[in-house]
Amino acid sequence: MLKFGQITILTAIVLLTIGVIDFFFEISPILYVTIFLLWFLIVALGSFTMRWRIFTAAVTKGGQTKKQVAITFDDGPNTEFTPQILELLKSYNAKATFFCIGKYLEKHSELAQQIVAEGHTIGNHSYSHATNFGFFRKKRIVEELSKTDALIKKLTGVKNILFRPPYGVTNPSIAKALKQTNHTVIGWNVRSYDTVVKNPSQVINRIQKRILPGSIILLHDTHSRCPEIVERLLQFLKKEGYQTVGIDTLLKKN
Ligand SMILES: [Zn+2]
Repeated sequence: MLKFGQITILTAIVLLTIGVIDFFFEISPILYVTIFLLWFLIVALGSFTMRWRIFTAAVTKGGQTKKQVAITFDDGPNTEFTPQILELLKSYNAKATFFCIGKYLEKHSELAQQIVAEGHTIGNHSYSHATNFGFFRKKRIVEELSKTDALIKKLTGVKNILFRPPYGVTNPSIAKALKQTNHTVIGWNVRSYDTVVKNPSQVINRIQKRILPGSIILLHDTHSRCPEIVERLLQFLKKEGYQTVGIDTLLKKN
């Protein structure tokens, strides 16, 4: 996929070329509008589709052929559900990755420590997870990321480099911020829709159909259905001979 700058330059070249042709042969204004709308549509869709990598590099799956997958949990830590999930992971001897929100790390520091002490990976999911995070300027994004990394370091001793953008949104401001902070952006290739689909069986079926070696699965440790989904998923992975590992292990190709 082309990068944002390339797409914009290409659109400008096409519009200029049409402008020149228009000088000799009359061209309908609709064509200009259509091309502009097409540019807008690609950029808007691209900001929600990390695997297109229009704005920034992002890891959305591991490259291995070995049967390993990474389960990732966003938006915690949560006092009710994170401990239940940690218990399940322990009983299946599975490791996972928790993309935590800074303000919750601050409130529930003991969970951050437990996550790391039990051998899981912790990552940065912004400080505020504000609904308008996608409209923040570079300076504010850098502040959010640095504040959360500092918290992770203070609470767990881990020097974090992993970042999952809130809502999976990337855009030019986030890309500029990431150039400064040097985080590795982690997306997913198995989206569970666990916060939207209320029936755990449907969520499990959706995940099972999509699992391949190297898959990165997106879940949220923030709702009452999550423990059941995790337990059934871990049973399935065990039966299929998959090892459940942290993102850092998944990214070491083997
Ligand atoms: Zn989130």
